[in-house]
Amino acid sequence: MNIGIVGLGLIGGSLGLDLRSRGYQVLGVSRQEHTCQRAIARGAVDDASVNLTLLAAADVVFICTPLSAIEATVIQLIPHLAATTILTDVGSVKTSVVDSITSRWPNFVGGHPMAGTAENGIEAAQSDLFAGKPYVLTPTASTPPVAIETLELLVRSLGAHLYHCRPEDHDRAVAWISHLPVMVSSSLIAACMSETDPTTLELAEALASSGFKDTSRVGGGNPELGLMMARYNRSALLRSLAAYRNQLDQIMAAVEQENWDGLVDKLKQTQQGRSRFVK
Ligand code: NAP
Repeated sequence: MNIGIVGLGLIGGSLGLDLRSRGYQVLGVSRQEHTCQRAIARGAVDDASVNLTLLAAADVVFICTPLSAIEATVIQLIPHLAATTILTDVGSVKTSVVDSITSRWPNFVGGHPMAGTAENGIEAAQSDLFAGKPYVLTPTASTPPVAIETLELLVRSLGAHLYHCRPEDHDRAVAWISHLPVMVSSSLIAACMSETDPTTLELAEALASSGFKDTSRVGGGNPELGLMMARYNRSALLRSLAAYRNQLDQIMAAVEQENWDGLVDKLKQTQQGRSRFVK
C-alpha cells in the first residue's frame, strides 16, 4: 500500500516515520521545499515534493496540515487522485472537517490521533508518537466500509488504541478534556499577570513551582492551536466554558459564605473524579 501525507510537520512527519518502519511506501507533500528535504533526510518519507501530483500513486492520503488549510488542500488534491483513493485527516476538530470533505470526496474517514508534543514542524517528528495513545476515527453512515477497515489496519499498526465515534460526540468530548483546559489555563496565567501590586507579582513569579507549572502548561502553548480550537469547535467549547464558569461561581459562593462543608464536599468529589480522566 502506498501512503501519501500532506503537511510534513509534527503529526505528518511522525506518521511517516512509523508507517515507513512498518514497510509502507510513504510519499510526502509539504508547502516548503526545505521541509520536504528534511523529511527525506530524517527518513519520514521515501519521496517528497511541494507538488500534489506526487500523490497520484497513493492508496491512502493523510491530510496533516493545520485545520484552516484542510479543506483547501483537499480541493487542490482531488484532481490528482484515483477514484479508489482513501482520504483521512488528523485535525483536532471533526464535525466541520467531516462535513466539508465528505461532500467532496465520499471515500473519506475523519481521524484524530490524541498524541502530540509542545513542539511543531518536521524537526519535532518522532517515532512511536502514537503508540499506546487513543486514535479516534469518526466515520458516518455513508462512509465506505473498506475505507474504515483500511484506516483501522493502519491505526493498529501504529500501536494506537482505536476508538470510533460520531464527529459531534468527538468534538464535545475534546472540548472538555483538551480545548477547555487551554482556555482555563490561559485565564489562570492572565489572572496572575493582572496582579497590580509589583511586590506581590514579583514574589508570585519567584515562588511559582511545580503546581503552577502543571496548571499553566497548556495555557502557555502555541496561540495558533488555541485559536483553531475556538474557531472550529466554537459551540462545544462555549458549552464547556459555561459549565466551567458555573463551577467557579459555586466555589466562589462557598468561599464567600464560608460554606466549608460544601467546599470540602466538592473537593472530595473532584479528588475522586480525576481518576476517571487521568489513568
Ligand atoms: P505542524 O507541526 O505545524 O505541521 C503542519 C505542517 O503543515 C507544517 O509543517 C507545514 O509544512 C504544513 N502546512 C502548513 N500550512 C500548509 C498549507 N497551507 N498547505 C500545505 N501544508 C501546509 O502542525 P501539527 O502539530 O503537525 O498539526 C497538524 C494537524 O494535526 C492539525 O490539523 C492539528 O489539528 C492536528 N493535530 C495536532 C496535534 C498536536 O498536538 N500538535 C495532535 C493531534 C492532531 P511546511 O513546513 O512545509 O510549511
